[in-house]
This record gives sequence, C-alpha cells and structure tokens, in this order.
Amino acid sequence: AQTPVKVTVTGAAGQIGYALLFRIASGQLLGADVPVTLSLLEIPQAVKAAEGTAMELDDCAFPLLRGIEITDDPNVAFNGANVALLVGAMPRKAGMERGDLLEANGGIFGPQGKAINDHAADDIRVLVVGNPANTNALIAQQHAPDVPAERFTAMTRLDHNRALSQLGAKLQVPVTEIKKMTIWGNHSATQYPDLFHTEVGGKIAAELVDEAWLRDTFIPTVAKRGAAIIEARGASSAASAANAAIDHVYDWVNGTEWTSAAIPSDGSYGVPEGLISSFPVASRNGKWEIIQGLEIDAFSRERIDASVRELEEEREAVRQLGLI
Ligand code: NDP
Repeated sequence: AQTPVKVTVTGAAGQIGYALLFRIASGQLLGADVPVTLSLLEIPQAVKAAEGTAMELDDCAFPLLRGIEITDDPNVAFNGANVALLVGAMPRKAGMERGDLLEANGGIFGPQGKAINDHAADDIRVLVVGNPANTNALIAQQHAPDVPAERFTAMTRLDHNRALSQLGAKLQVPVTEIKKMTIWGNHSATQYPDLFHTEVGGKIAAELVDEAWLRDTFIPTVAKRGAAIIEARGASSAASAANAAIDHVYDWVNGTEWTSAAIPSDGSYGVPEGLISSFPVASRNGKWEIIQGLEIDAFSRERIDASVRELEEEREAVRQLGLI
C-alpha cells in the first residue's frame, strides 16, 4: 500500500483550518487515490479546539485519512512532513504598527522555518497562507537553509480565482473559458491582476473590456475583495481561502500550464532575486516555473513595480528587525 503523505496545518483550529482540513482528508489536496496523515499545529490555548476538529474528522470516516496528530510543538508537527500549510499567523490588530506585525510573525515563522529545516521530509513543500504571507514565507525560508528555497511559496491563488470570477461575470463567460490570468506582486492591496495576457475565446481580455472598468473597477475589486467579504459576512473569508490553498498545492503536485503563485524570484521581470513575489507560473514535474517572455507595457510595469517595491520594503523591515 502507498505510504501516506504527511500534511501539516498550522492554525488548524482557526476558520481557514476548519474549512481546509476536511477537504485535505477527503483527497482534494493531493488526489483521490493518495492516503494522508494530518498533523495539526496550534498554540497551547487552541489545542483543545483542534482536538474537537480532529474528533469531527474521525467522525467522517474518510477512507484516505490514516492518522491525525495534534501538537503545540513545531518540531513534532513538521517531523517527516511532506506538505506544510502555514495558516496560523498574528493578525493585525487596531493600532498595530507594521513593525509590530512583522515582529510578531517573525516569532512564529522563524521557528517554524527552522523546524521544517531540521525535521521535514526531503520533498517538503510549503505554502504560506497567514498574512503578511509573502514576507512570512520569506522569514520561514531564511530559517531553512538546507531546504531548496523554491519549496517556500505564498498564496495568491485566491486573488487569481477572484480575478477569474470577476472577469467571467463581466464578460458573461464561464471561468473555464478564461486562460492565462496572472496576479503579480504582493498578496496585499498593491497586488496587480493583469488582463493583458489573459485570453478569452482567443482574444486578449484587456481588449474586451474598457480601460476605465479595468483600472477603476476590476483591479480594486480584486485587490479589496477581502475587506468586502468582512463587511458583508462579519468575518473574513475562510472557505474561499481554504479552496485556494487546495488549488495551489494540487496544481503544484499534479501540474498546470498556467496559474499564479508567489515563489522566490530568480530575477525574472525585474523582480529582485529572492523576493517571494507572485508571478504567472506553470508547474512541471512537481516544480513551479515562471512563465517567461511576456511583454510588460507601461501600465502593467508601474503596477508590478509598486507591489514589488512594497515587498522590498517588507524585506528591509524584517532585516532591520533581525528576523532574517
Ligand atoms: P483564519 O483562519 O481566518 O486566518 C488565518 C490567517 O490566514 C490570517 O493570518 C489571515 O490573514 C490569513 N489569510 C490569508 N488570506 C486570507 C483570506 N483571503 N481570507 C482570510 N484570511 C486570510 O484566522 P483565525 O483567527 O480563525 O485562526 C487562526 C488560528 O491560528 C487560531 O486558531 C490561532 O490559535 C492559530 N495560530 C497558530 C499558530 C501556530 O500554529 N503556531 C500561530 C498563530 C496563530 P488576515 O488576518 O490578514 O486576514
């Protein structure tokens, strides 16, 4: 029988964790024929809640779920892990400065990166969901010198999926007819959803919509969708974030011709090397590859540069704090 894949989820007792774990256990993360074990990492005060979720997982009798472990020790949680979904993070609280936020998250993602370095399986793949996701991923990666840098990624797939949905609604086409969508930069309000390479029925999407809609409606709607959901729902998006995490890892492992993911830059498209920034990517043989050769016009250049500048500032801030 196939050895189960160990999937570690941090912040497992949170909202996203609750939406995520059942889908992993049902086979949607890796495939309908891949057995899994789950490792749930939580802070001590949330371990009991994670135990409750584990009881519910038991009660589903998922055929692919071969075990559940619950711990507050990253060295245990990441021991032998093949996939790590880093969801738990310190949320920004009212009055919190960016430096405080980065410092609090440095205290989470630094030790987790080290535990991954020291204990994870050789094929470990890491997806950071917890915000500020790109920089949290950078912090973890910098604490894991023995793991190939490319195994550390951050999630922009929710932004990508939001962009597909908004464009599909505008053009009244199913999302399946939209190809080559791209999110560039940081998973933040500066992100840039790019329609200049997106294709719908063989035509470039930016040419099917007027520029005012693209600039004044589409881009801000995608970038600020999280806030709109909090406003409507009274809580932040959770199921859609979990869904995007599933999409990211599934495509990473099983391959795709084109999606968006934040991965360490190799210097492509003028993004400084090492920054974990969102690009148009393909996945082949279990590895992300940045799609090369796209022409970037002035409109896009300005927006990509602004988001990348923000990532550089975050990197500088965590350097100053001694977090990397
Ligand atoms: P959620 O599960 O709703 O969110 C978790 C993280 O995901 C947050 O940082 C959130 O950022 C981020 N996120 C990224 N994209 C999205 C999105 N599109 N929509 C919503 N959130 C997004 O948070 P909860 O507070 O419910 O749960 C967090 C859990 O993590 C708690 O149980 C806590 O105990 C745990 N935790 C565990 C740690 C650990 O394992 N060491 C460390 C810290 C916390 P944002 O806040 O910006 O929305």
